[in-house]
Amino acid sequence: MDLWNLNPVALPPEHEDLRGNVRTFLAEEIAMGRITPRCDQWLGGWDPAFSRRLGESGWVGMTFPTKYGGSGKGALARFVVTEELLAAGAPVAAHWIADRQTGPGLLRFGSAEQKEAFLPLIAQGQYYFAAGMSEPDTGSDLASVRTSGRRIDGGWRVSGTKVWTSGAHLAQAMVVLARTEPRSSDRHAGLTQFIIELPDPNVQIRPIRLLTGEHHFNEVVLDDVFVPDTRVLGEPGSGWKQVTSELAMERSGPERILSTFPLLAAATDYLAENSSRIDMARFGAVVARIWALRQMSLAVAGRLEVGAAPAAEAATVKDLGTRFETVVIDTVRLLTELEPDSGSDQEIPRMLAESILHSPGFTLRGGTNEILRGVVARQLGVR
Ligand SMILES: Cc1cc2nc3c(=O)[nH]c(=O)nc-3n(C[C@H](O)[C@H](O)[C@H](O)COP(=O)(O)OP(=O)(O)OC[C@H]3O[C@@H](n4cnc5c(N)ncnc54)[C@H](O)[C@@H]3O)c2cc1C
Repeated sequence: MDLWNLNPVALPPEHEDLRGNVRTFLAEEIAMGRITPRCDQWLGGWDPAFSRRLGESGWVGMTFPTKYGGSGKGALARFVVTEELLAAGAPVAAHWIADRQTGPGLLRFGSAEQKEAFLPLIAQGQYYFAAGMSEPDTGSDLASVRTSGRRIDGGWRVSGTKVWTSGAHLAQAMVVLARTEPRSSDRHAGLTQFIIELPDPNVQIRPIRLLTGEHHFNEVVLDDVFVPDTRVLGEPGSGWKQVTSELAMERSGPERILSTFPLLAAATDYLAENSSRIDMARFGAVVARIWALRQMSLAVAGRLEVGAAPAAEAATVKDLGTRFETVVIDTVRLLTELEPDSGSDQEIPRMLAESILHSPGFTLRGGTNEILRGVVARQLGVR
């Protein structure tokens, strides 16, 4: 039985040209002071102007067909661009969810009108989505969502509370998972995804602040929000199939290993100059580990490229990758002996502080490690 497929993938040579172009673009952006490298920018770096510039370069919506404004270049080309953006610590949060999961979800399940309405704008880096899955008491156990959708003439009324909704206060729309049929013995039946355009007078968005005081998350209260039939995503009742396909996109990318990469890169330069203090073997082991993780992540992208659904493989990479992101912090702190300081004008103390304060979320967002191990166990037939 073919339980696991993380076979090595070689990137086509033209993708290396693409990589070079992205690197040049990013170096110019940094040199012009338009962006500043930071850790965890796919959560924290909301910069619509930068997203637009990426869109103009054809680097958003790369997996969308050209007919919908994408470049149709596929998952491996997107992997290359994504990897460069994350490695440089570029501010990509604005378009991230729309490009990574909502766009592919619309392509797969959306109506012709929805595709035309949203995909070109997403690909231009101008339209941003939030993901409304989690709820108070319903994070890992999505099938128990209590947000409800009630059928009325011409549409639905949606009520409930979503939590940890990244970027909802800035996004132009959010995809909300709701229960639209009474719970039955099949817990996964009767769920529906709704596209709710924002702002909406019946949607209240309240900040939940990070330890740093930064505002990325929200609690979103939906109070009898009207959603027209044209904004139901896919088939009513098929929400579970759709949301699990969305989670596969959400879990599989290189962002799950690269949140702290800018810190690793900065520390490499620092340690090269302060070599008397290097524990070379220890640092080398970290670099080797990221190389192996990167090959695994690339293998997942390779499977997506051929239309496979590598859920267990993606879960494995995310579990190992998110734990590695914290290893980077610990190792850099130990070897550089620099203290974290968010107010510092030096890169490493500042990045250390930012990453430490963001790190509690690494293994939670997109599904906790325990849940991912459940996915793997199911694949292995032991659950
Ligand atoms: C930075 C960040 C960004 C996020 N952004 C979003 C977003 O944009 N949209 C969104 O919808 N959500 C978002 N989330 C929510 C995230 O997906 C949830 O936090 C996550 O799925 C876990 O849910 P929970 O916090 O309710 O924990 P719970 O589900 O209550 O879990 C608590 C603990 O119990 C464990 N556990 C739960 N069930 C089981 C089980 N069956 N077996 C074994 N262990 C179990 C969990 O692994 C965890 O350790 C974000 C979270 C973070 C940290």
